[in-house]
Amino acid sequence: MSDSRAPELSFEFFPPRTEAGRDRLPEVYTKLAELDPRFFSVTFGAGGTTRDFTFDAVKNISRDTGICTAPHLSCVASDKADLRRLLTQYREHGIKRIVALRGDMPSGMLGLGEFRYARDLVDFIREETGDHFDLTVAAYPECHPQAQNFERDIDHFVDKVRAGADMAITQYFFNPDAYHHFVDRVRARGVDVPILPGIMPITNYTKLARFSEMCGAEIPRWVRRQLESYGDDSDSIQAFGHEVVTRLCQQLLDQGAPGLHFYTLNQAEACTRIVSDLSLEKAGR
Ligand code: FAD
Repeated sequence: MSDSRAPELSFEFFPPRTEAGRDRLPEVYTKLAELDPRFFSVTFGAGGTTRDFTFDAVKNISRDTGICTAPHLSCVASDKADLRRLLTQYREHGIKRIVALRGDMPSGMLGLGEFRYARDLVDFIREETGDHFDLTVAAYPECHPQAQNFERDIDHFVDKVRAGADMAITQYFFNPDAYHHFVDRVRARGVDVPILPGIMPITNYTKLARFSEMCGAEIPRWVRRQLESYGDDSDSIQAFGHEVVTRLCQQLLDQGAPGLHFYTLNQAEACTRIVSDLSLEKAGR
């Protein structure tokens, strides 16, 4: 019997650009589909650079698994006519959910296009398509790197949700207090949409450090120092990373997070191990 309180899982992919990447992806999403996720999502390169790859991946994943699959859509450097066409295509293919984002462009190009912020995209999608799409937006428990300050970031997040978002997914983080603090702050403003914590499995320290620097996610000093001490020993990095992230997930769920959204980096194994150690495979989602 289904337990409505069971935590919901979702998994994010990037659209493979190479033949080899495209060949490998079905094995990954087929494995993750066995965990009965609520949805999958596929990222979108800012300015539409992965537009066709994203669309193809979304179509393939939903066709092969029967699981709701959401394209991400970023608006920076896009124009309305272009996005209108894309929304029509999505509707025609039965897509019901979109992750609506601003996106990032190389510095100096941010002013281009007809949209400035994700909120403009949420407004646009609601104007154009009413309630057809479930809209998910991004949240930043550790503050977006370009925000004027934390308070203004919360203000902008609240505005974006009120413009018509149904749910949010956070940037990844390793400190559960940051997530709970953020959720408390937005609940105090009367925003009650589910806020799914974004989970980044730790498998490769060099890549994680580089990406965290770019997106403003903090790797706690004790985690960083321990990972650094392993050097090139990837087995130890993965074992320690698994322990840290599994504990983080457990703490989040114990304290009321509605589910977990995994940044898979198109790999199934690290995610399936975490889900298995949390005993969530048969949670009756
Ligand atoms: P916004 O909500 O527009 O916020 C961006 C910044 O602008 C924030 O600092 C905010 O405080 C500020 N701001 C907002 N409104 C105003 C205002 N009115 N006045 C002044 N400042 C304002 N990127 C991609 O390119 N493709 C993807 O597929 C993708 N997927 C993602 C999925 C998730 C779950 C997350 C968390 C991020 C993803 N990103 C993706 C990254 C994202 O595009 C970047 O973090 C981007 O810098 C911000 O996007 P946003 O939608 O959060 O922007």
